[in-house]
Amino acid sequence: MNEQEPSETTTLPAATTATDDDATTNNTIGYVHVYTGNGKGKTTAAFGLAIRALMAGKRVFVGQFVKSMKYHETKIVEALATSPYHQHLRIEQFGNGCFIYQHDPTPDDIHMAVAGFKKCERILARENHKNHNESQDNCNYDLVILDEITIALKYNLLDVETVVGAIRNRHPAIEVVITGRYAPQELIDIGDVVTEMKEIKHYFKTKGVLARDGIER
Ligand code: ATP
Ligand code: MG
Repeated sequence: MNEQEPSETTTLPAATTATDDDATTNNTIGYVHVYTGNGKGKTTAAFGLAIRALMAGKRVFVGQFVKSMKYHETKIVEALATSPYHQHLRIEQFGNGCFIYQHDPTPDDIHMAVAGFKKCERILARENHKNHNESQDNCNYDLVILDEITIALKYNLLDVETVVGAIRNRHPAIEVVITGRYAPQELIDIGDVVTEMKEIKHYFKTKGVLARDGIER
């Protein structure tokens, strides 16, 4: 076994974002994952976790900030439509695309991110959505993925205190995954699993390989 890896008998550190009481009342504790860094694999890892969670019977909500393109992974919702999992996965996008890299955010960019995050806040709190035309059933997600929310923070579409507050005040059973470059220290601080994808090589830079269907999008 690799000396870096914990053995099966290793005692893992106690949870930092949930208490033992949470474990007693909900029979499960959700933790906070942060996948950041400049290398490839953050969104891919989050969707990999989504599949693992779905197949374990969990409900998954994915909120994608900044993005607007229908990436191939989002088609899984349609693919599951006639399956027993059709109520278990929801993917929503709260952006106008990656144009944000090229210009200052527009009022609409900000509005979409803020409105999107308000929805995520309700989902994180497992609030009753009756007033929002959503069934209570649909609120009970076990895994909430906030894809590229760090980009929304970097471009000041959202403020970090609001995001940290909503994650801290979430229903304690919800597992949260944050993805994106430039994760601010405040998110790293509340993370229980923080992984940096570090670019060692990327074929875009070494070979000029552009984004491909089924690999990057
Ligand atoms: P993926 O979606 O492939 O898991 P990611 O979520 O880690 O990538 P982002 O930071 O969201 O990466 O980057 C957006 C796009 O840039 C994706 O198409 C991604 O594949 C690509 N990309 C990721 N890392 C690099 C890199 N080091 N150089 C160039 N392009 C990259
Ligand atoms: Mg990504």
